[in-house]
Amino acid sequence: MEKIILVTGGGRGIGAACSLLAAQHGYRVCVNYRTDAAAALNVVAAIENAGGTALAIQADVSDETAVVRMFALVDERFGRLDALINNAGILSRQMRVEQMDAARINRIMATNVTGSFVCAREAVRRMSTKHGGAGGSIVNISSRAAVLGSAGEYVDYAASKAAMDALTIGLSKEVASEGIRVNGVRPGLIDTEMHASGGEPGRIDRLKSFVPMERGGEPIEVAKAALWLLSDDASYSTGTFIDVSGGR
Ligand code: NDP
Repeated sequence: MEKIILVTGGGRGIGAACSLLAAQHGYRVCVNYRTDAAAALNVVAAIENAGGTALAIQADVSDETAVVRMFALVDERFGRLDALINNAGILSRQMRVEQMDAARINRIMATNVTGSFVCAREAVRRMSTKHGGAGGSIVNISSRAAVLGSAGEYVDYAASKAAMDALTIGLSKEVASEGIRVNGVRPGLIDTEMHASGGEPGRIDRLKSFVPMERGGEPIEVAKAALWLLSDDASYSTGTFIDVSGGR
């Protein structure tokens, strides 16, 4: 039986690479998007043109009602869920802590932390053998910022990714005996639109100078790590992380 995967933020950047690679691995893919329907539909078309099955689903992961509706649509269309990649995330504008207000911090937390949390909850409700599910696998796309921090830049973002890591570790223990593995990928600097706005001039070149491999990563390099963690090849790995950061 073909497995079903949901990739949040699956229409662009790292999420798009995960959606496309998941289809190559034989998954039927639910491509979640928030605003960019065209990008999500392009990913769906690419998967279908290659003979796969995909469905674009609009939902803002920071909206619990929308997330519940999204998972209900997955149930309706496919009747099961085997894998979730919590990829949707925001960075916001570069800013020192003195300038950050609670509204900005809450916005980042609502997407990166609460959004991932609620999607994981919905996945567990469907996957857990305790609830009659067949088990499954969850991968959270965190960041090297969770452990390295990001001084003078995006402390709220780093804190949100550290919270995602704690979610990964804590949840992995809670559901390990119910057939569900929960792991994380920590990308370093990856070449996507996330870096297109809001940073100081020369920031990307400065960040690249910290990377031992002396280059930014490609979204597909993150997707390969995520798909490996989802796969049966990682059957004894849970609560763990793969760094994809060029040695940073
Ligand atoms: P992009 O900005 O290229 O893409 C972000 C994706 O997330 C888009 O598909 C967007 O959907 C979606 N998204 C954002 N907010 C929401 C929301 N509230 N609900 C649903 N979807 C949402 O980013 P990347 O591909 O670079 O980042 C993907 C993940 O990787 C993020 O979690 C990011 O933190 C992490 N990461 C990225 C790094 C990098 O250097 N690029 C480094 C480390 C981690 P839409 O377009 O429809 O709005």
